[in-house]
Amino acid sequence: MDFHNRKRKTDLLIPPPLRIKIIGAGPTGALLALAMSRAGSQVSLYDSLDEESLLARSRAYALTHSSRELLDKLSLWEPLSPFVNSFTTLHLEDRGLLKKVNFELNDLNKSHLKYGAIGWIVDHKSLMKILYSRISQDPNILFELLSESSSSLDNNDLVVAADGPTSFTRRSWGIRVFNLPYRQGCLTAKVIIRGANESTAHEILRPEGPLALLPMGGEIFQVVWSAPISLCKERAAFTTSQFLDQLAAILPYGFEPDILLESPTAFPMRFSLSLGLGSRNKLLIGESAHRFHPVGGQGLNVCWRDVQTLMHLIEKYNNGMVKRGSLLTAYSAARFLDVLAIGVFTDLLVRVYSNRFFPLKVLRFFVITLISLSSSVRRFLLHFMTYGPTKFFTILSD
Ligand SMILES: Cc1cc2nc3c(=O)[nH]c(=O)nc-3n(C[C@H](O)[C@H](O)[C@H](O)COP(=O)(O)OP(=O)(O)OC[C@H]3O[C@@H](n4cnc5c(N)ncnc54)[C@H](O)[C@@H]3O)c2cc1C
Repeated sequence: MDFHNRKRKTDLLIPPPLRIKIIGAGPTGALLALAMSRAGSQVSLYDSLDEESLLARSRAYALTHSSRELLDKLSLWEPLSPFVNSFTTLHLEDRGLLKKVNFELNDLNKSHLKYGAIGWIVDHKSLMKILYSRISQDPNILFELLSESSSSLDNNDLVVAADGPTSFTRRSWGIRVFNLPYRQGCLTAKVIIRGANESTAHEILRPEGPLALLPMGGEIFQVVWSAPISLCKERAAFTTSQFLDQLAAILPYGFEPDILLESPTAFPMRFSLSLGLGSRNKLLIGESAHRFHPVGGQGLNVCWRDVQTLMHLIEKYNNGMVKRGSLLTAYSAARFLDVLAIGVFTDLLVRVYSNRFFPLKVLRFFVITLISLSSSVRRFLLHFMTYGPTKFFTILSD
């Protein structure tokens, strides 16, 4: 076969770029748009809100190494790095048993040691500004705000719904959801806490619900305070001094909450899993497909592992290794175990630790003793929180 004939044959095998419509430009949809463009697709991205409202959410995210790897791959880590705060210690406390354990850098996989951090905290606004700025410069992405795009294909090859936990698209596609509401709600606020170390993140498991302190740099902490929803609402309505006094009473010894930087927000929580991820050309991704309790800071990291998987599959499609009609099946198979395992794990954590039942206290005693005695157990847990149940062989070979 001469050169021209061979070239013509290869050209025929390479599929044309996919046209992908993404509904929802939250952290999942925005990152997905960049990932799909990087994978050679033509993307249109829609959100029903304007940019000011999209940036205005007051949240901070704890990023794991899997999220960092994706940001690195998309050349986003470098512009983001001035805005992230790394933590080198994760302090875990069982308040019911008065037992504590620290996860340190030497509990990481060897391949992660070079990053010098167990994880990173980033503020929603800083993250989204960088994603939107990159999107606006990307010639492969059409970005439309204040746009309630329909969930139909139009001229696209694939529609991806990243429109969050109350997904309108999911409902319009008739996909049902498994919902397990918690009696607990969650209260979030940014607080200046004196006496706390900016390199340490805290997960304090209390009988009324977990309390996380995410260091955002300096003395600023994002407080994620779970408790029965009625208590959360009561606390959200407190005066500033009442709120700080109540918080002071449950913080570790020597921590003084000094200034409340914003009004606390209370919201209900639930574990939900969509019973199906779409059909041939339609796909649910991120919180439109799954939502977990915030304990362990897994929510956004799992959403971004969805993005990573879809990007990988589109790259395979471009190389002729996956057919277009098999994308959804391949995606569902690749994501099933991770999503289910993290959902069940976070649910169990909440149930076992928000509990005063004596046999469970005995179990917890053994678990925390094992964690504090064994570096291998700590390494395994950090690995699980980073990749879910996938990549087990990397931990064995590390
Ligand atoms: C009050 C609150 C506080 C939280 N705090 C934290 C925290 O402290 N730390 C943490 O890690 N996680 C937190 N989370 C969870 C975190 O916000 C989610 O994991 C993350 O936002 C999921 O991203 P997403 O893009 O999948 O969904 P979302 O962020 O919900 O984004 C969905 C997007 O779709 C858009 N949209 C919806 N319907 C349509 C439509 N019909 N057409 C077009 N666009 C549409 C919405 O405007 C939105 O921009 C919090 C969640 C809530 C609700």
